[in-house]
Amino acid sequence: MAKDTFYLTTPLYYTNSTPHIGHAYSTVAADILARYHRVTGNGRAHFLTGTDEHGQKIADAAAAAGKSPKQFCDEIVERWRSTWASLNIQYDQFIRTTDDYHEAAVQQIFFKLREKGDIVPGTYEGWYCRNDETFWPEAKLVDGRCPNPECRRPVEWVSEDALFFKLSQYRDRLVEHFNEHPDWVRPASAFNEMASLLRGGLDDLCVSRAGVTWGIPIPGEAKTIYVWFDAICNYLTAAGYPHDMSRFERLWPPDVQLIGKEILRFHTVLWPAILMALDLPLPRLVYANGWITMEGQKMSKSLGNVIRPAELLEHFPVDAIRYVLFAQAPFGSDFSFTEESLFRRYNAELANDFGNLVQRVLSMLARYRGGKVPARSAGDELNVEFETAADQTRAAMERVDYRAALAAIWERVKSLNLYVEQAKPWSLHKDGNEQLLDETLYNLCEGVRWAAALLYPFMPASSECIWRALGQAGIPGQTWEKTLRWGLLEPGSLTQVPGALFPRAERAAS
Ligand SMILES: [Zn+2]
Repeated sequence: MAKDTFYLTTPLYYTNSTPHIGHAYSTVAADILARYHRVTGNGRAHFLTGTDEHGQKIADAAAAAGKSPKQFCDEIVERWRSTWASLNIQYDQFIRTTDDYHEAAVQQIFFKLREKGDIVPGTYEGWYCRNDETFWPEAKLVDGRCPNPECRRPVEWVSEDALFFKLSQYRDRLVEHFNEHPDWVRPASAFNEMASLLRGGLDDLCVSRAGVTWGIPIPGEAKTIYVWFDAICNYLTAAGYPHDMSRFERLWPPDVQLIGKEILRFHTVLWPAILMALDLPLPRLVYANGWITMEGQKMSKSLGNVIRPAELLEHFPVDAIRYVLFAQAPFGSDFSFTEESLFRRYNAELANDFGNLVQRVLSMLARYRGGKVPARSAGDELNVEFETAADQTRAAMERVDYRAALAAIWERVKSLNLYVEQAKPWSLHKDGNEQLLDETLYNLCEGVRWAAALLYPFMPASSECIWRALGQAGIPGQTWEKTLRWGLLEPGSLTQVPGALFPRAERAAS
């Protein structure tokens, strides 16, 4: 078996908290990409997400809640799953690092690296932040405390017999990989940051924990596997490594791995080194999305400035959130997300530009033609514009540029609005210019059909609603190759006027 499936992953989310809009951003990004790859190309995509459930922080949080760690995680995981359902996220696989197959596979990977001499015994001494589960060099401490600006908790001196992954011996190969694949980490700022970190050299990494019991046990030792080593292997174990190699070969390597930029170092240094040690191909692209900021500060639980998707869903349809998150800023940059900007773009771009257009076109068809699609029309240049937009959208999505894809589609939405204003179907009707009215209405319906197909990855719910209203079956735009051809709308077929897709939002009192 050879690779035949587009494999994309989100980070595993840590179950010491529940999802906020920052987590939603990465996960919706993956959903858009997965849907795009399902409706284009060969239609095969595998979208993996899940939860990272081990480590002392979870054990502590569970104890504080009076629960066992597993029971605690079971409850939190349901909140992640239900949030993803509410955002219309259609993953193919949800992995939990407490899944039996994952635990067994990580133990096998660990054993294999010990056999090869990539994991060796040693002594660990250093300053340890229990909250971040990270050892910090003395020089990095801030006033003797954890240097993570969101943490700053006291660190403890830890000295223990430990096992080390010989990360340092992969430094040269990593440098070479960075040199030969200048696009494998994006955005460019992330690539540059990691390339310069590598130039500074690498230390071996302690991958065992003697004091942490809530983790994957290392057979024959009173230790567990470092939670980051455990979690990062999920991309392998979920794909079937090493227990289902025929499945693994169809998926490997990952095509796109979406991560937050705070976990860049793990994904572009530790992760590729583990893969090199296992003689496996590296991911084709690791893309670090930026942070959503609130008044210039990163959104985080400890700063108490988080927005929860559920709060937004009380006021806006799910597609509004999916659209605005990606229309607003280039992927990879930090951006500020406020209810104000959501409200403004929702009313201007979704309610006004797009929702009204769909409503207007189908209402005119109902009024003048009883909802029946008129005879085919060649497109009056709209066909050419839409073909160009499809090419631009495809090119943008291939480089994971969501904003450019939306911009290309929105140009066409605007041009359809202009077309209505210029063609004035109501005047054609009044003047009895029936043939031109037929042509105009056909072109508008085809334009709306193309827009729905192109927008499907971003706004699946609205797109499906439009698709049905136009009398179309199946998944909108499945596949682009088959559906993105001008003139596929069948003359004589019956359409319906959909309910308001984007009812105008009133300012929520805040
Ligand atoms: Zn800390």
